[in-house]
Amino acid sequence: MTDEPARPDGTASGPVVVRSRDELFAARSALGDGDVAVVMTMGALHEGHATLIQTARAAHANVIVTIFLNPLQFGPKEDLSLYPRTFDGDLRICSDAGVDLVFAPTPDVIYPDGDPAVRVSAGPLGDVLEGQSRPGHFDGMLTVVAKLMHLTRCDAAYFGQKDAQQLLLIRRMCRDLDFPVRVVAVPTVREPDGLAMSSRNTYLTESDRETAACLSAALRAGAAAAADGPSAVRRAARAVLVREPLALVDYLVLVHPDTLVDVPEWYRGEALLAVAGRVGTTRLIDNLPLLLGPGGSALEVLTVA
Ligand code: AMP
Repeated sequence: MTDEPARPDGTASGPVVVRSRDELFAARSALGDGDVAVVMTMGALHEGHATLIQTARAAHANVIVTIFLNPLQFGPKEDLSLYPRTFDGDLRICSDAGVDLVFAPTPDVIYPDGDPAVRVSAGPLGDVLEGQSRPGHFDGMLTVVAKLMHLTRCDAAYFGQKDAQQLLLIRRMCRDLDFPVRVVAVPTVREPDGLAMSSRNTYLTESDRETAACLSAALRAGAAAAADGPSAVRRAARAVLVREPLALVDYLVLVHPDTLVDVPEWYRGEALLAVAGRVGTTRLIDNLPLLLGPGGSALEVLTVA
């Protein structure tokens, strides 16, 4: 017997599961020929994550999934200790989706010297929208994404449109700092009533769950007005949210997808309609990329130059 990394359930199929850097490097070197795609997650996997993995699986020779609850991107009053942990189920989803390698480190593996003194800075794009209520969140997120890109030596990385500001910042990091990684966006996977799937949806009570549907309903209403320009979109989306006082809206914005600045009334082209709010004790975010102007509509993902 060699000290080959463990497979879940001791089976011969399913992903190789590794936890340390040395195990990762050995398993990474043992992957087959061809390119490597990575899907980075915080665990508590659902159909949204599965879709990212399947999309990567269809396009790349090798697929790595990382499962890491990154303390650096949680604020002191956020839900790190409560965040759902479902490792066995996560491995089943990875196995069903044909993942080759799962890297599931603990914080001391990723940050062996404690909190890193040097971090990636998101800059001004990290201070708006989500950054306004989550100071430091995007620096922590980018820092771990950079480290995981280096550690996995990936050629491509798949991220959900669901976290639009995160996706934009990762694209900017790769472009601005010359990471040799192709960033691929995957459309948001939704529940039948439109609610964007999220690991945090498990916090919602039954009545929260009904209230939460207003966020995606507002986005759809806004999209239906996309042909009529920005103020029509904002008006239509706001009209849905005001009918649901139990959703405490943090922001509803229609912004340029590259700058996250509100689009002016004359603007036509791609824009991002984004919403964040609290339902019960849970903060939820959602967005819909839109094409504004004649024939305007919702888009699955933004077109990126
Ligand atoms: P998380 O585990 O929440 O950090 O998410 C890991 C990745 O899955 C990120 O790229 C997310 O944008 C993506 N993701 C989360 N929820 C969804 C969803 N409902 N549809 C598509 N992608 C998602």
